[in-house]
Amino acid sequence: MLNQIGDSIHYLPNQNDKERPTLGLVCGDQYSLVIDSGNSVQHARDFLHEIEKLKVPPVKYLAITHAHWDHVLGMNEFEAAAIIVNARTNEIIQDWRSLSFDDHSLQEYADAKKMTSQCVETIISEIPERDTFQLTSPDIIFEGSLRLDLGNKVCVLETIRSTHTDDSTIVYIPDEKVLFLGDSAYGTTENSLYHFKQSLLLPMIEDIRKYDATHFLLGHESICDAAEMDLYWKELISASKAVTSASLEGAIAAFEADHDRKPNENELFFLKAFVNDQILKSQSE
Ligand SMILES: [Zn+2]
Repeated sequence: MLNQIGDSIHYLPNQNDKERPTLGLVCGDQYSLVIDSGNSVQHARDFLHEIEKLKVPPVKYLAITHAHWDHVLGMNEFEAAAIIVNARTNEIIQDWRSLSFDDHSLQEYADAKKMTSQCVETIISEIPERDTFQLTSPDIIFEGSLRLDLGNKVCVLETIRSTHTDDSTIVYIPDEKVLFLGDSAYGTTENSLYHFKQSLLLPMIEDIRKYDATHFLLGHESICDAAEMDLYWKELISASKAVTSASLEGAIAAFEADHDRKPNENELFFLKAFVNDQILKSQSE
C-alpha cells in the first residue's frame, strides 16, 4: 500500500533489506508524476500495481533524482511516461545503456567494482529476460531547473549541489510543502570509504533550505519533518566544523572543545565521514 501526504501525494516507502528507495507519485487534475523508477523491473511493477488501484490521472512524467542503479533500473516499465533527467544524469544513463545483463557481463562488472554485489543480486532476481534487457533513454533533458504543471499542481525540479552525487535533482511541490530529496543529502562511498564531500555541505544546505517544506522524503529513510531535517543539518554542520585534517582523534577533540560534551552516535558517524573525505582528498593530491 502507498502512503499519502495531503490530497495529491503518495509514496511507496523505502525497503532497506532489498535496497529499494522511496518512490513518489504526485497527482494533478490531468496528469501524474512519478519520482524515481525503482531498483528493478519488479520494484517498478510493484509500484505501478499500487498506482493502478488509486484511479489517479495517467502517469505522464517520470523524474529521476540521480543515476544510481537503485533509482533507475525500473525505468523501462514506465513506457507511457516521458522520462525527465538533468543533463549529467543523462550522461550517466547513457553509460548504463551500453551495459549487458547476462551472467558473464554481470560477473565482469562485479569484479571491476562497476556494480555492487547487491546491485548484481537484484538484477538477477528482479529483472526478468535480462539477457536482452537494455535501459531505455530519457526523453526530456533539462539544465538547472524545470517547472511542470500536472493540472492545478505545480512541481519544481531543480539540480542542486550535493554531497552524494554531481547529478542530484530534487522535486518540490509548493502546494503541499513537500520536498523529494532523493539521496542528495547523504554521503557516498569512494574507494571503500564512506564520506560527505565537505566542500559541498554548506552549498547543498543552502540549495535545499530555500524551499519552504514541512515534509521531506529521502531515498532510504522514513519521512522527515522540518525539525528532524534541521537537526540533521545541525549535526552535519557541527561535525564538519570539527574536521580540519585526516585525524579522527583531532576531530573528536575539536568537537568536544566546541560543545563541552562527547559527540552522539550520529555526530560520530558524520565526523568519521568528514575525516574520510580529508583522507580521500589527500589521496588525490
Ligand atoms: Zn544514490
